[in-house]
Amino acid sequence: MADESASCIFCKIARGEIPATIVAENEAAIAFRDLDAKAPVHVLVIPRKHVASLDHYPDPVVLGEVLLLAAEVARKDGLKDGYRVVINTGPDAGQTIHHLHAHVLGGRNMAWPPG
Ligand code: 5GP
Ligand code: ZN
Repeated sequence: MADESASCIFCKIARGEIPATIVAENEAAIAFRDLDAKAPVHVLVIPRKHVASLDHYPDPVVLGEVLLLAAEVARKDGLKDGYRVVINTGPDAGQTIHHLHAHVLGGRNMAWPPG
C-alpha cells in the first residue's frame, strides 16, 4: 500500500514541512487554526500519525488525546459559553482532507441541526 502520509497535507503540517498556526500540541496530537475559518474560533485537531478518517479504526487512545486537546484549545481560546467539535467522515459529511481531524468551532451561536 502506498504511504499516504508522504503526500498528505496534514501530515506535512504535523512534520513542520508546511506552515500552520499551531495553538496547542501534545505527544499524540496537534492543533492549528483552519485556513478558511467558519467561526470566530476554528481550530483543527489532528493525530500526528496518519489515519484517513474516523472510519479507519484510529487508535482509541490517540482519538481520546485528539478530543482532550480539542477541549484544551477551547479553554485556551476562552470559549466559556460553549463550542462544537465536529469530525466530518466520508463524502456525505463533506470530508475533504483524508487525515482524521476534529474541527473546534466557537465564538458564535451554532445552529442545530447542522446543515
Ligand atoms: P473537512 O472538510 O475535511 O472536514 O475539513 C478540512 C478543513 O481543512 C477545511 O475547513 C479547510 O479549510 C482546512 N484546510 C484545508 N487545507 C488547509 C491547510 O493547508 N491549512 C490549514 N490550516 N487548514 C486547511
Ligand atoms: Zn496524513
